[in-house]
Amino acid sequence: TAILEMRDCGKSYGNIQALRGVSMSVRQGKVTCVLGDNGAGKSTLIKIMAGLHDYNAGEMYVNGEERHFSSPRESLGSGIATVYQDLALAPLMSVWRNFFLGNEVKKGLFGMDIATMKRVCGEELTKMGIVIPDLDRPIGSLSGGQKQCIAIARAIYFGAKVIILDEPTAALGVKQSGVVLKYIMKARDAGLGVVFITHNPHHAYLVGNHFVILKLGRVVLDAHRDEVSLDE
Ligand code: ADP
Ligand code: ADP
Repeated sequence: TAILEMRDCGKSYGNIQALRGVSMSVRQGKVTCVLGDNGAGKSTLIKIMAGLHDYNAGEMYVNGEERHFSSPRESLGSGIATVYQDLALAPLMSVWRNFFLGNEVKKGLFGMDIATMKRVCGEELTKMGIVIPDLDRPIGSLSGGQKQCIAIARAIYFGAKVIILDEPTAALGVKQSGVVLKYIMKARDAGLGVVFITHNPHHAYLVGNHFVILKLGRVVLDAHRDEVSLDE
């Protein structure tokens, strides 16, 4: 069943129709890939799911309930975590501080002392297979792949049901991309619904269960893995 579903969704910016009649769903334990050229509407789609924009036609359902998010906090509160290309991490702050950033109140961590936060962060990252020898390092000094993995690990730890990844491999080399793709599979296997926005059909095919292609704001393909192949 779908955790998040869009039915006939539309969004316009003044005269510009960024999305029209878009239907798609995000399922538990599945990766839904969203592909499309610049201007196709991918960012607009993310912004609607992440609570940065509202849609102005159609419906969006989260856990079966029709929702209009009016803030990122509301989206996150419904279990939707968004990892942007720029990561929205505080680059000069330490790894451990970033791990908890914005989530202190959850899990009763508010007011937790530094030593405990560091320990919990270290334990969680290790559990999730991420090795960072020095948690005091500014997160900005880590590789792009490591940062993406930490952002995903953080979303899993804090209980996200859906994770939206905005071109997570776009700025990465082959090896780092591989690490992040493996991490996407990890999130999927942990039962999250993953939305993987990408320009890269190969990356999509490596991890995707379902593929949605947008073109000029419309869905031009919505296919299950079995229905697509790379050699067209
Ligand atoms: P599997 O991947 O194990 O074959 P799924 O649960 O992905 O099984 O698919 C079950 C059915 O739901 C299929 O008909 C598939 O096309 C459909 N489906 C799965 N994911 C999506 C999705 N994100 N959007 C629309 N339909 C989907
Ligand atoms: P993508 O992420 O696939 O490149 P976008 O969602 O950014 O696509 O853009 C879809 C369309 O909406 C484009 O024509 C773009 O110029 C337009 N658009 C996006 N954001 C705005 C905005 N804030 N104001 C006006 N037009 C916008």
